[in-house]
Amino acid sequence: MAREENSKHDQLWMGYSQVFLEMDDLSLARWMAQTLGQLSGHAWRLSHPLLQTYELAAHTAHDRQIWLKGMAIIPAEYTAAECCRAPLLPVLSRDVFDVGLVCKHCGETCVKLDDLPGEMMQVFDTWSTCYDKAHSVAHWEDDGKKLPPDYDKLFELSAKSAEKLLAQAGSQLAPALLEIYPAVAWEDQDECLEVRPEDVDI
Ligand SMILES: [Zn+2]
Repeated sequence: MAREENSKHDQLWMGYSQVFLEMDDLSLARWMAQTLGQLSGHAWRLSHPLLQTYELAAHTAHDRQIWLKGMAIIPAEYTAAECCRAPLLPVLSRDVFDVGLVCKHCGETCVKLDDLPGEMMQVFDTWSTCYDKAHSVAHWEDDGKKLPPDYDKLFELSAKSAEKLLAQAGSQLAPALLEIYPAVAWEDQDECLEVRPEDVDI
């Protein structure tokens, strides 16, 4: 059922991509460069419609390798990501400890946690440990753990912790990254704990 829902969702998004698929390489590159200019200077929620739209463009551009082939000009304030040569736009997710910051264009690691300045790395490391603790409650059953009788209450408490930690990511961690990168995005939901973007107040 969930898989069927996912594939319907993917199909819908593939339809949304059409607007970028119809653009030629130069028009697509220009749209992206202009949007990167708008994204500059802010830490963006991943759920923001502009970011979601940019993601569709980024996937189309990645498939066509427009950055790798040097067909597009990277806006002045951005540098090229080592992973795919696209403008470096890092995403902070709950998997930061394992995968570091992820490239918005190709989905690979674009900044390793070790590459962040020492003090910042410590803050991210601590945040990630707290987040893992809250998040793992959602997977106790999958992990073969016997659920306690008050599991629903624990789940609810963990979801509340996740909301606070995501708010911290959006109000402190992601903005701190703006000292290094022109723009960043941060994950503002947790589907496993049923935390929606609108539950995360910053
Ligand atoms: Zn990349």
